[in-house]
Amino acid sequence: MTMIRFVDLKKQYLGIKQEIDDAVLGVLESTQYILGPEVTAFESEFAAYCEADHCIGVSSGLDALTCSLAVLGIGPGDEVIVPADTFIATALPVTLLGATVRLVDCEDQYFNIDPAAIEGAINENTRAIMPVHLYGQIADMDPILAVAKKHGLYVIEDAAQAHGARYKGKRAGSIGDLACFSFYPGKNLGAYGDGGAVVTNDPELAQKARMYGNYGQTKKYHHESIGQNMRLDSVQAAILRVKLKYLDQWNATRVQMADLYREHLADTKLLLPQCASFSDHVYHLFVVRHPDRDRILEKLGQDQIQSGLHYPIPIHMQKSYAHLGYKPGDFPVAEKLAETCLSLPMHGELTAGDVETVCEKLKTLIG
Ligand SMILES: *Cc1c(COP(=O)(O)O)cnc(C)c1O
Repeated sequence: MTMIRFVDLKKQYLGIKQEIDDAVLGVLESTQYILGPEVTAFESEFAAYCEADHCIGVSSGLDALTCSLAVLGIGPGDEVIVPADTFIATALPVTLLGATVRLVDCEDQYFNIDPAAIEGAINENTRAIMPVHLYGQIADMDPILAVAKKHGLYVIEDAAQAHGARYKGKRAGSIGDLACFSFYPGKNLGAYGDGGAVVTNDPELAQKARMYGNYGQTKKYHHESIGQNMRLDSVQAAILRVKLKYLDQWNATRVQMADLYREHLADTKLLLPQCASFSDHVYHLFVVRHPDRDRILEKLGQDQIQSGLHYPIPIHMQKSYAHLGYKPGDFPVAEKLAETCLSLPMHGELTAGDVETVCEKLKTLIG
C-alpha cells in the first residue's frame, strides 16, 4: 500500500522539475546570490498576486512578523493582541521585541480570532492586533479593522497559511496595515528552504521594512536605522517565481479535495470545517474535529495515512509562555480545538482516489 502523505513535496517537484532546475542553475551561474533581479522580480510578482502595492522578501515567516512589528515601533511597554490558537511564531516576535503578548480566544465556527472578544483585551498599552488566517481562511477582518480604528491600533495580518485566500473579494495581504507570509516548504506557496514576505499598501512602512531587513541601510554602508539581516535568499526567490505561477491551480485542487472530503464525510461523527460566507478558503489545512482524535491519528498512521495536529497546545499552555500567567480554562474554545483537532492530508497533488482512501479508513474507525 502506498503512503498517503500529509504534503507531497517530491511529487510537486517532479511535476515542475525542469523549470525549477533551470531557475536554480540560472542563479548559480549569475553569481547574484544576495538580492538582485530574482528577488526584485519575485517581490513585484507577489505584490501583484496579493493585489497590494509593496512586497519585501524576507528570510522566514517569523522574520516577516518581527520586521512588521519593528517598523511600527512596537517594543517594551507595548501590548499586542494575538489569538490563543496559532503557531508559536505569531506570538514570539512580540516577546522578542520586548512587548507583551495579550491573548484572545478564537471563535467556535471558523477557529479564527473572535472579533467580539478583542475589545475586552484592549488597554492603554495596546498597539496592534495580529489576526491569523488560520488553516487558509481569512479572519473576519471588518469588525477587527473597526475596533482597531476606534482605538487607534495597527492591524498585522499573519497570512502564513493563506496565500491567495480572499475576504469579501480582497486578497490576504491587502487588508491590514501590513501582512506577513511564510514560504516554509509545506505552505501553499513554499520555497525549498526558509523564506517569507512582508506585504503592504503603505509606501512608508514598505521602505522601513526594506531597510530593517537589510541592516537599516539606505545604500551600501549608509545605515540610517537599526536593522537586521532578514533578506530573502536569491535561489529561493527564483524557485518561488516558478511556483507562484502554479499557486492558483494548486489552491483550486485543494478546494476540490476539501469538497470531496466534505461529501464523503458528511454522514460521519466528525465535525467538518465550516466555510464563512465572507471568505474564500485556500485550505492550507483540512482540519476535522473528533473527541477520539489521538486514536484516529494512530490508526491512520498504521495504514500509511499521514495526519497531523494543528495545534495540540494553545499558546497560553506552552511552557515558554507560562510567564504570562494564564491558566487552563482561560481560552475554552482554543483548548477544545487543541484537544479535538485532526488535520487530514491536504496538498496540491492530492487525488480524488487518495481522499476516498482516507475517508473509507476514517469511516471504519469512527462509524
Ligand atoms: C508557518 C507559520 C509561521 C512562521 O513561518 P516560518 O516561515 O516557519 O517562520 C507564522 N505564523 C503561522 C500562522 C504559520 O503557520
